[in-house]
Amino acid sequence: MTLNEKRAAWRAAGLCTFCGGKPMKERVRCRKCVEYFRAYFQTPEYKTWNRARYQIPEYKALVLAHQQKPEVKARNRAFKQTPKYRAQDRARGKTPKRRAWIRACGHKRRARLTGNGDTPFPTEQFEALCRHFNNRCIACGRLDEPGRERVPDHIISVKLSETVMLPLGFLGDIDNLQPLCHGLDGCNNKKGWRKFTDYRTNPHPDCLRVRAVTP
Ligand SMILES: [Zn+2]
Ligand SMILES: [Zn+2]
Repeated sequence: MTLNEKRAAWRAAGLCTFCGGKPMKERVRCRKCVEYFRAYFQTPEYKTWNRARYQIPEYKALVLAHQQKPEVKARNRAFKQTPKYRAQDRARGKTPKRRAWIRACGHKRRARLTGNGDTPFPTEQFEALCRHFNNRCIACGRLDEPGRERVPDHIISVKLSETVMLPLGFLGDIDNLQPLCHGLDGCNNKKGWRKFTDYRTNPHPDCLRVRAVTP
């Protein structure tokens, strides 16, 4: 008798499908087995093995085929509606890793929508703008330093542009860009997407100071 056959028999007999020990009423495995496997799934050995098996094309195809079955799809959809899953999902959304991932997805999606990913900002015009402001961040007047450099900042942010009507192509237009520092203690990091602060009309004094000697 293979293990799978054994398990099917245990299931039919209403016993724990892992150890065949205790009779179960609503569950398919006993609490002891559930706890054992929960702990086991956290071990590096299991995680390595689990990652490795998804590298096997046959296994991956098997999993994908399973997920495409209508009854599995329906079951997953139903599970996602349960309070248990929703609480789990909310909790997961609060971990830093997940938050970063969600943010990155948003960035990618917005870049795709606005075409920013494919057609980058007008580099030459932006460089000219930087030169005009003495190559400094126009909010704090600092020059680039290791760990902090000027980046083109959208005055009306990509995210905000979703809520206000903007002419097509305005987002990546030079009129909507300003050099702000980004990185360690950068001004661009602090600027929220809701505000649109146009520093170009009131830049840091260092940005407009005419240098006596041109290097
Ligand atoms: Zn058991
Ligand atoms: Zn700055």
